Amino acid sequence: MTATFDIAAIRAEFPILSRRVHDGRPLVYMDSAATTMKPRHVLDAMRSFDEQHYSNVHRGSHTLAAEATEMFEGARTQVAAMLGANADEIIFTKGTTESVNLVAATWGRQHVQTEDVILVSAMEHHANIVPWQMVAAETGASVRPIPVLEDGSLDDASARQMLTADIRILAVTHVSNVLGTVNNVARLCAMARERGIVTFVDGAQAVQHGNVNVRDIGCDFYAFSAHKLYGPTGVGVLYGRREMLASMPPYQGGGAMIDRVSFAGTTYAEPPMRFEAGTPHLEGAIGLAAAIEWFRSIDCDALRHHEAELLAHATEELSRIDGMRIIGTSPNKVGIISFVVDGVHASDIGMIADRMGVAMRVGHHCAQPLMDRFGVSSTVRMSFGVHTSHDDVQQSVHAVAKAVEMLR
Ligand code: PLP
Repeated sequence: MTATFDIAAIRAEFPILSRRVHDGRPLVYMDSAATTMKPRHVLDAMRSFDEQHYSNVHRGSHTLAAEATEMFEGARTQVAAMLGANADEIIFTKGTTESVNLVAATWGRQHVQTEDVILVSAMEHHANIVPWQMVAAETGASVRPIPVLEDGSLDDASARQMLTADIRILAVTHVSNVLGTVNNVARLCAMARERGIVTFVDGAQAVQHGNVNVRDIGCDFYAFSAHKLYGPTGVGVLYGRREMLASMPPYQGGGAMIDRVSFAGTTYAEPPMRFEAGTPHLEGAIGLAAAIEWFRSIDCDALRHHEAELLAHATEELSRIDGMRIIGTSPNKVGIISFVVDGVHASDIGMIADRMGVAMRVGHHCAQPLMDRFGVSSTVRMSFGVHTSHDDVQQSVHAVAKAVEMLR
């Protein structure tokens, strides 16, 4: 497919965008950071798999089993190509959360010891905090956050100082789901590597905004979820550098993760199978492969340019609203805008905007430590997807302004 960017044509590919809500209002979907909608290409690929090729994978000798296995392993190859990795470095999980838990429960239990420090950032999603806290509680290690500056960027000077010999792993988000900040993960990983520190990057909010290459980043692990990349829920990816995966114990037991089972003892398969116990989410992997194929047909530079324009437009218009406080104004950010308005509850803004057809998210966005950092309990969050138009931005800002006017 040749890469192009035509917003009207892209919008036409999402059946759900023709939905109407609340007395026939057109849906303005501004919640792509929570989950992205599925284009027809992805929906068709999953249906076609189920209607034409469905079977369990890996252990059958019949035609459908062979076809399903080929498609499932083809999906793995597709993910690997997207990330610049090898297929045997790609593990299918339930999503980013499970990918973090997998590394914490295997590599973490194997390597983290009393007195060790797990370094995260203050802008992490709970998914990249809690699994590490669980390992810390078991081992006597501690979890320490790199501070976030007032504009929502990571405090690089502190990061540099905090990457000391007692750090066992640096687990940091590529893009913040609240602030939109893009962290310079390549630089952070390079600093960590120089000091022999293992690195985990949470890419849940990064993959849908452009190219990601794990070799360029230089991380040991990278995770993302299909449902934030125009694919289905229930499936995600853990990339692990080959040498890392090879030395790690299994995560769960059963199914295809074995080499040989006997009551005298069981030996395990090589990665990636070692980490995929039980029947995988087959339709999910097929849907993810279709999503990647579809996403790669979009001109990435044009998408970035479009998103930057939308961001500037929305930021400027929102800033005109009296009492507006945008949380996260780093110069390097994607199309995510979190805000609070003086004297008005975030949830009330969200509810009124919804009545006007605008879907935004309100809450702590699974980032309570970050909410504490900025002294708020919740924010309204507007987040853009590939389908987002200037008209969407206009209508969303209008809905927010109207809500504030009504609530004051
Ligand atoms: N990390 C970040 C930065 C996220 O934004 C999210 C979801 O919002 C997650 C992790 C968890 O993703 P999932 O719920 O798909 O496992």
